Amino acid sequence: MAAKNLATCIFCKIIKGEIPSYKLLETELSFSFLDIGPVSKGHALVIPKYHAQKMHELPDEYLADAMPIAKKIAIAQGAEDYNILQNNGRLAHQEVDHVHFHVIPKPSKERGLG
Ligand code: 5GP
Ligand code: ZN
Repeated sequence: MAAKNLATCIFCKIIKGEIPSYKLLETELSFSFLDIGPVSKGHALVIPKYHAQKMHELPDEYLADAMPIAKKIAIAQGAEDYNILQNNGRLAHQEVDHVHFHVIPKPSKERGLG
């Protein structure tokens, strides 16, 4: 990723505290926070603390750090059903060029059961 993009990356700024966020869990490698435009209550994002654009740029050890966080958030949100989503590149609807995993709880009413 070009240095220019790194300097302007909103998620890098969130990690550094330059842009406020509602932080959830944090590890040495990962940061997680609530999405500013949630598609459901509790919609969260898990990101690496270093800049990378797409998932294939991440080492396997990062994925081993991120997935348990996504799992913990999904459990903590209390939704029986949920999505873990991850977009890579414009054609795949990636809008923020800092790799991120969406954790999207599906409250029962969204399944027509509430
Ligand atoms: P993408 O389409 O790239 O997979 O998703 C990017 C996500 O980042 C969107 O769901 C959007 O609401 C979220 N987002 C964009 N800017 C900010 C921000 O400044 N703060 C937070 N918390 N989320 C953001
Ligand atoms: Zn970044």
